[in-house]
Amino acid sequence: MNVRDILPVRRQTPTKSPTGKNWSEHKPDLKEDFNSHCGYCGSYDGYRHTYFEVDHFIPKTLFEIKGIITYCQYDNLVYACKFCNNKKLAKWPSNDETISVLNDQGFIDPCDVNFDHHLYRTADGGIMWKTALGKWMAETAFKFDERSSSIKLLWELNQRRKLLDRFIIELNKRDQNSDEYKAIKKEAEKISLEYYIYDKELMEYYNSI
Ligand SMILES: [Zn+2]
Repeated sequence: MNVRDILPVRRQTPTKSPTGKNWSEHKPDLKEDFNSHCGYCGSYDGYRHTYFEVDHFIPKTLFEIKGIITYCQYDNLVYACKFCNNKKLAKWPSNDETISVLNDQGFIDPCDVNFDHHLYRTADGGIMWKTALGKWMAETAFKFDERSSSIKLLWELNQRRKLLDRFIIELNKRDQNSDEYKAIKKEAEKISLEYYIYDKELMEYYNSI
């Protein structure tokens, strides 16, 4: 499985044209273009435990020196959960903003198809690597290994959220007295209980760290 269900695609023409340090004006566009998921770890932004931010793929500290990239340049922005953003910080493998990978260290833009050539999602929702660069991203840059319990719980929750959304669509198509409706509802109730249990587990996890 890929880390993200859908490869994010940045729009060509953003809705707003912020200048200076007002890059957060791009956040609604980024949320849409990244399908409400973190570009790096694929977590969904619908839970109260995760706050989403606008990350600069090429770190600000680096391009501030040369002034080639601007703060609000849309193709350098990533919709990222605060955990990925806080771990990534100003990490970069070179002193050159055009060199994002050097000796198996560095970053692949989350909108690049190659992102999924380096990392993958395990059957239990964890994130593992396929390459040495993927290992660097997972262990050094984003600390997916340290964050493994929350990444898995967020994935379990998201799977159930998507299932429940589909169940609701199916239920709305049917007569409430039909056997089919009752069967779907029963299944949805089972998934809702699982959702609640995972949510509680996640909350306990965040309260413990
Ligand atoms: Zn993330």
